Amino acid sequence: MRNNLPIPRSALVVAAHPDDAEFQCGSTLAKWAAAGAIIHHLVCTDGSKGTWDLNTDRVGLVETRKSEQIAAASRLGATGQVIFLDEIDGELRSDLVTRSAVARVIRELKPQVVLGHDPWKRYRLHPDHRHAGLLTIEGVVAARDPFFFPEHGLEAHRPQTLLLFEADEPDHAEDAYGWSDVKTAALLEHKSQFVTTHDITNPNDETQIRAFQNRVEEDLAIAGELSGMKSAELFKAILDL
Ligand SMILES: [Zn+2]
Repeated sequence: MRNNLPIPRSALVVAAHPDDAEFQCGSTLAKWAAAGAIIHHLVCTDGSKGTWDLNTDRVGLVETRKSEQIAAASRLGATGQVIFLDEIDGELRSDLVTRSAVARVIRELKPQVVLGHDPWKRYRLHPDHRHAGLLTIEGVVAARDPFFFPEHGLEAHRPQTLLLFEADEPDHAEDAYGWSDVKTAALLEHKSQFVTTHDITNPNDETQIRAFQNRVEEDLAIAGELSGMKSAELFKAILDL
């Protein structure tokens, strides 16, 4: 297992839903931001199915999740853009139109590192994560080659490194030691997800908040054990783009 890329000048994380970036690579993004990297978020779907409450105002939910994502990025110390593609939650497609949109963002922001879902993760059920992963890799390929989507009128851009999270075969670890608190704080900005994702039924119950923090720390520690560190986030690294 390799570890710890040099701190990039800039990074773009491509996530299926608001909160995926923080869950999968929040510590890594916070560590890089603190060292001066510009961190951008691209969120593919509108998060409109992120509730079990049948009485939810789902238009309101979309706006809530956007503001939560912006607050979470800010908690990480991210100073770049937070962009929403606004595809319908659960209906993301890795088609040419959406690929063009992702490639356009990569060309505009010129990130040195791109992070995204591993589209080849076996037995993962959620289609948005698979499609977001495909859009990430296909977006990188399109962005780097000038004859893809020339209608963008933008220079081609080739990122240096692609890190795939939720990786089927992780081969790269980022040291997350000391970066669990900020990851937890960012995740706790996604308040609309407390019941469905964070297992927090009462936001004022300190015990539940601490249990969530412990869960974040445990996940980082388990990833650390696999990589010879106390605490880590794991990726499949594609270094030759
Ligand atoms: Zn997700």
